[in-house]
Amino acid sequence: MRGELSASESRPFWRVSVLAVRKQMFKYKHYPLELKEPFGTAHGLRTHTDGMLVALGRGDNIGYGEVYLPPYYRENRESFESFFSLVDESRLLSFGDLETALHYLHGLTNSDSGAKTALDIALHDLFGKETGQPVSEFYREELELYCFPKERIVTSYTIGLDEKSIMLDKARRAKEFEILKIKLGGEDDVGIVSAIRDQTDQRLFVDANQAWRDEEQALSVASELISLGVELIEQPFCVSEFQKTRALRDASPVPVIADEDVQNAGDIKRLADSFDGINIKLMKAGGIRNAVAMLKEARRLGISVLIGCMTESSIGISAAAGIAAFADWCDLDGNLLIKNDACEAVKTIDGVLEPSDVPGIGITNDAKLREIFGAID
Ligand code: MG
Repeated sequence: MRGELSASESRPFWRVSVLAVRKQMFKYKHYPLELKEPFGTAHGLRTHTDGMLVALGRGDNIGYGEVYLPPYYRENRESFESFFSLVDESRLLSFGDLETALHYLHGLTNSDSGAKTALDIALHDLFGKETGQPVSEFYREELELYCFPKERIVTSYTIGLDEKSIMLDKARRAKEFEILKIKLGGEDDVGIVSAIRDQTDQRLFVDANQAWRDEEQALSVASELISLGVELIEQPFCVSEFQKTRALRDASPVPVIADEDVQNAGDIKRLADSFDGINIKLMKAGGIRNAVAMLKEARRLGISVLIGCMTESSIGISAAAGIAAFADWCDLDGNLLIKNDACEAVKTIDGVLEPSDVPGIGITNDAKLREIFGAID
């Protein structure tokens, strides 16, 4: 099977007539995101994230998408461009229904989920604009069969791994957020969380990004973190270390969540008895449609869902926000960490996401994007 698009279902209002449409556009642009402050994880410290913006134009509408992946993923600027060169623009834009367009896109190669994410988001944005529907409404009925949507989407705010004094300062400046997600995996995980706990009553999640090695030590660290009030532990061990993860999960009263261990819906079943939940990110899933499939599969297997993100602009964050009400937790703060956002879309007010209900993925001001991409020829 090529690509990883889930089985299609009937979504009749996402069809448009393209017979008379002459104007078409597919453009992509290298657009690194600059971080406001250096951001650290167990994989290292970085000051920017490399990636691309894409624009798909048809008639008078333009759909926007993007791909941003951290350096430890296998895709990069060259592979994005090489995938985009495979896309036959006139073919992609010839389909009058979203399902067929997505099948064409996801069937082009067996990999490239990041590059596909950019075009998957852009197609959703374009069809949403053409049919006057916000993406959140598009999936609402389907997802309500699996769980009730939350009325309030609270996002955690991520504190990158750094020197303890810097992490404490960042936490101090993030008072408006109900939840802090603290990146761990250094020498002093308990010391860091303990110092942050001393200065705040905010809810705390931790993400070790695969850095914990020794099972006994991890169990002891986790137990101390939980006594400090940590409510969730993300990706404690290296990818595929299910035995260690299961031991921690069995001992832990708080959920243990898979991130690097899960990419798409096909991965979830084999994780379900080692983790309590999964972190779904559009960038690794291959876009909105596959993220929806992951959400449904997780619910079917009875495990929890966190909707997360990479360092992304408001394009990716707004696209994810469209389905975030159906997750148990939300960590959509990537756009808050950058200084050169590509557009205005979802708002985050006092740590609560307020998705816009404009058609498409929710972009409310695309002036900068129009400057970057120009008009549809
Ligand atoms: Mg993570």
